Amino acid sequence: MKEKVRSIPAVHDIQKETRFQLLMEEIGEPSIFTKWLREETEKLRNSFLENSGPTLHSREEIKDYLLDRLQDKIYNFNEERLCRVINATGTILHTNLGRSNLSEAAAQKVLAAARHYSNLEYNITTGDRGSRHAVLEDIIKETTGAEAAMVVNNNAAAVYLVLKALTSNKEVIVSRGQLVEIGGSFRVSSIMEESGAKLVEVGTTNKTHRQDYEKAIGEETAMLMKVHKSNFKTIGFTQEVPLQELTEIAKENGDPLVYEDLGSGALYDFKQHGIGDEPTVKEALSSGADLVTFSGDKLLGGPQAGIIAGKKQWIDTLKKHQLARVLRVDKLTLAALEETLKSYFKGEDGLKEIPAVRMVLESQQTVTNRANKLLNGLRFSTWTSNLESDVSKVGGGTMPEVTLPTAVVSITTGTIPPATVVEKLRITCQPAIVTRAKDNKVWLDLRTVNGEEIEIITTSLHRLESELEK
Ligand SMILES: *Cc1c(COP(=O)(O)O)cnc(C)c1O
Repeated sequence: MKEKVRSIPAVHDIQKETRFQLLMEEIGEPSIFTKWLREETEKLRNSFLENSGPTLHSREEIKDYLLDRLQDKIYNFNEERLCRVINATGTILHTNLGRSNLSEAAAQKVLAAARHYSNLEYNITTGDRGSRHAVLEDIIKETTGAEAAMVVNNNAAAVYLVLKALTSNKEVIVSRGQLVEIGGSFRVSSIMEESGAKLVEVGTTNKTHRQDYEKAIGEETAMLMKVHKSNFKTIGFTQEVPLQELTEIAKENGDPLVYEDLGSGALYDFKQHGIGDEPTVKEALSSGADLVTFSGDKLLGGPQAGIIAGKKQWIDTLKKHQLARVLRVDKLTLAALEETLKSYFKGEDGLKEIPAVRMVLESQQTVTNRANKLLNGLRFSTWTSNLESDVSKVGGGTMPEVTLPTAVVSITTGTIPPATVVEKLRITCQPAIVTRAKDNKVWLDLRTVNGEEIEIITTSLHRLESELEK
């Protein structure tokens, strides 16, 4: 054993090897290589001392082994961490896959904002300091009908800021039916506790009435809060008090704030096409609410952000709060959000620019055309493919009950279990293709796949078939 340990070459000897030199030339970061080589040498020494580890006979073999380990480490290190994924799940706002994709215009604007200086906090007219809160405020006001608005890191941050700044140590009344947990362990009750607001629950899980709020309102009440139930839907014997009525109750009972966490916050009226019953942000605000908050990367189709819109008096208080600095967004977010919001002013064509909105509105026929394009390009030798219909989901906690008729390409894989193909598509393909197995087939929903991705999917499937069925 001692002899084995002694035969481990010194790090500086390995560094003289041609193979080491070649790796350095290829990748080039000698300091980290030396560190890794030391770690691998140490690991091998310990495994020899414990009488475990690889069977290596000569000094040459050990040297090769260590260089192999180093090479693996280098290649792994250079693997992409945040990598592109093709979403063939049909879930449009897939939170695990990054929710909404940016429009081309938004992506270009991000690039420009990243490359150059900007007037992020600079007033170009006067040459004085400006405010980043001012950059998009007028566009948000125009899109939502709000008196004032600001943007923070995400909607969770928006909810927190509103509660912390406006209701700390005071009572906030919420219907029991709206005390939901929204994926990623964001709980309305917990965020309220964090903020220092005192939660006053009213009503029951399924029904909350006007009188429930009226009975609970008192001296200590700072706010009546309504929360979008997101992924959760109560059906059957249910009742909620509409926002409009909450504002009336507030007016007649000491005028506490009325705030709704809209969650997804549609800027476009999807209802008009029979898709869901999501109120637009404008509709929510026109009911007289003091404030609403919503995400930038759900139905809006922009970057991760939280938008707070409502009465100027309260937005001004929020902008001045210490937390506004903690939760502020960067220039890249503002750049993406600006172009996304501008698309809403360009009519039908503008809406089509925003991928998430386009995917929600796209007809089954358009999706079927893409599915046929994929089908027509597939040339399997043993597998077979078919066009099927199914339903896609909007996702991201929005419109949980809405199903969008879609077109799916299903693949029957013969002897290979579909789950294996699903796994391989995910792991071995560049980019990763995320899909699912259903009814003993591989199931690719084309609603969330764009035209350019069809060729990538085709190539990957062909390669997989020949690899797995050989
Ligand atoms: C999604 C959601 C949130 C959290 O929004 P993020 O932008 O993901 O932080 C908060 N409240 C509701 C009702 C939601 O649907």
